[in-house]
Amino acid sequence: MVHRIAIVGLGKIARDQHLPSIAKNPDFELAAIVSRNAELEGVDHFTTLDEMLAARPDIDTVALCTPPQVRRQYAEAAIRAGRHVLLEKPPGATVAEVDWLKQLAAEHSVTLFATWHSRYAQGVEPARNWLADKAIQSVEIVWREDVRRWHPGQDWIWTPGGMGVFDPGINALSILTHILPAPVLVTGATLDVPENRQTPIAAKIDFVSVTGHKVTADFDWRQEGPQTWNITVRTDAGLLELSSGGDVVRLDGETIVSGDDTEYDGIYTRFAQLLVDGKSDVDISPLQLVADAYMLGEVCKVEAFIE
Ligand code: NAP
Repeated sequence: MVHRIAIVGLGKIARDQHLPSIAKNPDFELAAIVSRNAELEGVDHFTTLDEMLAARPDIDTVALCTPPQVRRQYAEAAIRAGRHVLLEKPPGATVAEVDWLKQLAAEHSVTLFATWHSRYAQGVEPARNWLADKAIQSVEIVWREDVRRWHPGQDWIWTPGGMGVFDPGINALSILTHILPAPVLVTGATLDVPENRQTPIAAKIDFVSVTGHKVTADFDWRQEGPQTWNITVRTDAGLLELSSGGDVVRLDGETIVSGDDTEYDGIYTRFAQLLVDGKSDVDISPLQLVADAYMLGEVCKVEAFIE
């Protein structure tokens, strides 16, 4: 069955990733765009989701590509109208609202897919498999990028619910929670918030695994030049390095995976399978770690950020 899909929020990620991956996937047909500001030539356009839901009962799936602060309202409306819903990451602005959406989707017998695109990077599954039977000694995450390059003009990232540097940092946490055999818990954090903004531009987080080893995370949005998206895991059997956001894996310095970026193709393949199986996939663990870092975090005011 081909699913007619509507994209809600025609911003950067919708254009860069969702449109090309939907176009490539024979299980989906782009049937409408819901956007307050933008249109796509040749595709039905609606300014509000409610209009689309009323006018196009044939559209059975919706991809929500808005900022997290407004996602719950859109998701609730779509679920109550009996549509299957794909949530961009992070799946919501709070843990409780995502949990509520999961319940609501079950009550309405629709699929809810909370996507974590970094989990579809090509090195992630091999890393998870390799780590499954190793004794882990420590994990170090370094996720440093240039906010001016990746989020130009996006005000929502600097307002409550936008999560600041946790917007990219949660990608690292989505990989961490997927590749480690046991859960990790936040033990402390420092959050650097520019004096003219409301969300952190940098964060350092300490975790402990329930098996006893430590994890550190260093998220920073002020890195110019080459970007760093690395996770290094020391084990009893050697050193695993996951770099380039999860596309490259090295074991004791030897490259065993070096893949291209096919994350969103993987997301739509998975969404199609969930629809066939009539299942949902909602893992809130990365969002919970961010919430816990906020709860335990010491906030430090830093130099104003001027875009
Ligand atoms: P964006 O460029 O700002 O686009 C978001 C779109 O959402 C806007 O263009 C807007 O579309 C719509 N929208 C609806 N209500 C809104 C509101 N109250 N405030 C602002 N926009 C609203 O953001 P993005 O980079 O695409 O990010 C969207 C989501 O994708 C975020 O959760 C982000 O974490 C995730 N993501 C982004 C990237 C990336 O590289 N940027 C990568 C992976 C995931 P209309 O004007 O069409 O209504």
